[in-house]
Amino acid sequence: MMPLHSHPSGRHFLQIPGPTNVPDRVLRAIDNVTIDHRGPEFGELGRAVLAGMKKIFKTEGDVIIYPASGTGAWEAALVNTLSPGDKILMAETGHFATLWKKLAERLKLQVEFQEGDWRHGADPEQIGKRLAADSGHEIKAVCVVHNETATGAVSDVAAVRQAIDATGHPALLMVDTISSLGSVDYRHDEWGVDVTVAGSQKGLMLPPGLSFNAVSAKALKASETAALPRSYWDWKEMLAINPSGYFPYTPATNLLYGLREAQEMLQAEGLDNVFARHKRHGEATRRAVRAWGLEILCVKPEAYSPALTAVVMPEGHSADAFRKVVLTHFNMSLGQGLGKLSDKVFRIGHLGDFNDLTLCGTLSGVEMGLGNAGVPHNKGGVQAALDYLAQTSRAQPA
Ligand SMILES: *Cc1c(COP(=O)(O)O)cnc(C)c1O
Repeated sequence: MMPLHSHPSGRHFLQIPGPTNVPDRVLRAIDNVTIDHRGPEFGELGRAVLAGMKKIFKTEGDVIIYPASGTGAWEAALVNTLSPGDKILMAETGHFATLWKKLAERLKLQVEFQEGDWRHGADPEQIGKRLAADSGHEIKAVCVVHNETATGAVSDVAAVRQAIDATGHPALLMVDTISSLGSVDYRHDEWGVDVTVAGSQKGLMLPPGLSFNAVSAKALKASETAALPRSYWDWKEMLAINPSGYFPYTPATNLLYGLREAQEMLQAEGLDNVFARHKRHGEATRRAVRAWGLEILCVKPEAYSPALTAVVMPEGHSADAFRKVVLTHFNMSLGQGLGKLSDKVFRIGHLGDFNDLTLCGTLSGVEMGLGNAGVPHNKGGVQAALDYLAQTSRAQPA
């Protein structure tokens, strides 16, 4: 910790995989008077941000915005669609999948956790097999984390849907996109997802404090008979008033100003360009990691995350000690290892408001930090990334 009277010069590099760096434009938008959330001006804002979220989720269906962190939207997805004792199938992709499972168990759901090694995405084949064996249709929902932020592995959501459909099983599909929405290609309607869960502080470039559910007609139907107790999270009152742009309780007005601005930025860049930018920075990062001679945690190239890269620390070296060196020497925060990966991996966030030079700064901080912390590595990681960036150079919009 810096002494209070000291101030590090330059911007802090917030290269954890969320919260991400909030663009100045978004900060300026948030820095505005809080208006009457029942007054005439507010309705327009509410309608605009709700319509904007539909475009980002790629859905014609309903979207709900909560003043809550992503965890709240996890809970909302479950309590609106399920009943006490219901069986659900969850895929163990890593720490976040494990937290969602614990939340479900506290709600008295019976969770079957499909085991994983925290180095892969969810396995559509295993999910299909399990559902095929469930001839009594006891499993009410399948829950998958799209981008497992603890490991940097992406699950193929379309393949999971196909595996479910191939068995003719009626289970709902719920997907956590908290760290992928706005950075990794995602299509709620096309991929047949019933509830998508998202949060504000990662790909959407906002501070923490908003979270979302995108809801299919089938999920809405399930909510009519779902018996888990719910009040704050209930979709019903939200959906009754949302068409007018208003909310049943006080919304996070200033964050909604920021959301409107972030939506405009994402649409101006074009979502496909946003996804391509993240992919390219992911690849450049992995080239740096390989050049350093370090190991990428995710073992399946097709599952590599465009949003973050988790790097395995060499045996006998502490990832947390290394991160501390990077923070004190370079004023950069890297993501810590979570759960059973604690102190064993560090995570480089390359998502959100991020460009070639932010990547260069980030990787330079990692490479210099490896040297300062005495972690065995080869030089040349930054150079490998620069070479790739040069080969794939993209004109910046004027
Ligand atoms: C960050 C994150 C969460 C937790 O969200 P909170 O906003 O901290 O509640 C859940 N799932 C994934 C995949 C995440 O990246």
